[in-house]
Amino acid sequence: MRSVADVRAGSCMCGGVRFEISQAPALTLACHCRGCQRLSASAYSLSEMIPVDGFRMLAGKPVIGALHGPSRYLYCPRCLNWLFTRPAGFDAFIMVRAMMLDEVGDFSPFVETMTREKLPWANAPAVLSFSGFPSPDDFGDVLRAFAERQCSPARL
Ligand SMILES: [Zn+2]
Ligand SMILES: [Zn+2]
Repeated sequence: MRSVADVRAGSCMCGGVRFEISQAPALTLACHCRGCQRLSASAYSLSEMIPVDGFRMLAGKPVIGALHGPSRYLYCPRCLNWLFTRPAGFDAFIMVRAMMLDEVGDFSPFVETMTREKLPWANAPAVLSFSGFPSPDDFGDVLRAFAERQCSPARL
């Protein structure tokens, strides 16, 4: 269990881009979609949904990569690591690639999305599973369920 006061830092592989997170994640996710498989060069991507007010750049200037569309995928200009995403129409949050944080040992994905595109053996230890993405109607419930779990004594 992490408290809201925890400040966590992260960086790309070469260290040229560094950032800091000063708020607890609103959600942690694994995404099995084909896009995330390509972006992460792996079975699924792992991310933390961080309120924009809790995110701050410390060094470097990330550049746009991947699709160059309405959603912005941000990369280190030197080592070309994927660092975070600003999804279109989702301005309140930054999707930070969870494995870019300095400390990743206590990360686990609370939801997994797009399981209809997952590899048969690729099972993320998520509490909630969605064959697609949670609908806007479901999303509030998902955030509440995650917040309640973060506050439960069993996790302290
Ligand atoms: Zn780098
Ligand atoms: Zn995805």
